[in-house]
Amino acid sequence: MPLAGMRTTFAAALVAATVVVRAQSPSPAPVWLDAYREPAARLIGAALGDTAAWTRLAALTDTFGHRLAGSKALEDAIAWALAEMKRDGLENVRGEKVMVPHWVRGREHAELVAPVRHPLVMLGLGNSVGTPPDGIEAEAVVMRSFDELDARGAALKGKIVVYNVPWTGYGPTVQYRSSGASRAAAHGAVGMLLRSVGQPGLRTPHTGALAYAADQPKIPAVAIANEDADRLQRLQDRGLTLVVRLSMDARMLPDAESANVIGEIAGRERPEEVVVLGCHFDSWDVGTGATDDGGGCVASWEAVRLMKQLGLRPRRTVRAVLFTNEENGLRGGLAYRDQHLAELPNHVLMIETDGGVFRPLGFGFSGNDQARATVKAIASLLAGIGAARVGASGGGADIGPSVQAGKVPSMSLDVDGSLYFTIHHTEADTVDKIEPTDIARCVAALAVMGYVVADLPARLGQ
Ligand SMILES: [Zn+2]
Repeated sequence: MPLAGMRTTFAAALVAATVVVRAQSPSPAPVWLDAYREPAARLIGAALGDTAAWTRLAALTDTFGHRLAGSKALEDAIAWALAEMKRDGLENVRGEKVMVPHWVRGREHAELVAPVRHPLVMLGLGNSVGTPPDGIEAEAVVMRSFDELDARGAALKGKIVVYNVPWTGYGPTVQYRSSGASRAAAHGAVGMLLRSVGQPGLRTPHTGALAYAADQPKIPAVAIANEDADRLQRLQDRGLTLVVRLSMDARMLPDAESANVIGEIAGRERPEEVVVLGCHFDSWDVGTGATDDGGGCVASWEAVRLMKQLGLRPRRTVRAVLFTNEENGLRGGLAYRDQHLAELPNHVLMIETDGGVFRPLGFGFSGNDQARATVKAIASLLAGIGAARVGASGGGADIGPSVQAGKVPSMSLDVDGSLYFTIHHTEADTVDKIEPTDIARCVAALAVMGYVVADLPARLGQ
């Protein structure tokens, strides 16, 4: 389209947008919001004024690397976070003990051995069993759905099932990773290969947890790169018989000791009432867990640090919680619920950041209508950084158990998610995918929302 035409179209769109905004303009901002314009501006200015968050995330991921539950790297990173939080002047800094599963990948290899030899780019799925020491070799059958699996039924006995399920979003596709192995085992399959659950990448397999059904044999299960799944499909479509060889040392060791990391700014009037900024500090054992979820942890922590640095002590406590073991057990989230059960009625709001720290757009929120109106007003303070949106629902895996048990209003930071499922659970989850200005904006959004909700004269939703 010629430039002049574009300008005309843009101008017309702008006029239309202005009309829409006026027509849908909500009731004027509540009077109480005025008191928060100045502290919000200070928090946003401080967050955007330096690259502290990105620098800290780079230090975390470069120094410790990935942080799978049970690993020394996770425990070393936890010790570092506790020491750094104390250095930052955060209050009541502590680790709360959690026992976590200890799965180790070990060496692993998969290859097509017939009709041609072709190494498969793969990652074993978390919690998978390994193969016998000599590996397994079996005919592989490619299919696109559970319906196709069930239709083949007994013909799959002794075979390796290959799910080549196209990506249609995380929800519909991830069930093949979670339960595909046991469903294949129910038909007598001896192994499972999965087209990676993620957006098309550059031959990057995506790991992630599987859950074995108690009543089926446990068979080894791996994710292969999308390109490899497509190649197997094409070979089978030509009428060729596929044979795959798989060898994995993966095994589950006894539970290991880990901890949820907590740091706060204590409330000046009602310290027993708490706003939680949560995230998970563990990651998969590939990449460096920068987006999932080191970034969410650094942003949540940094939001509390900025309040402290600026002398903004809210009425209620703001608590950063770096949960352990979200990825293959959720033990951190469950332990927090159990260890804080009596205090959950005093949890005013729980916010989880686990969708990456890309450009923030706003928040998802679950809570009553009165609370929703309040958080919408607070989010309007973030219009300048483009993060004023409040979506229909919000929450997260780590805060989920507490939110449910305590009926706590819950929120998630919403960000531009276009890259998230390209790097999710892959070797490509590294800090270079994150822009310093984006994570700084995430810090600003969390700091403003956390601070104002913690400081409101009346408790959120009441
Ligand atoms: Zn995550």
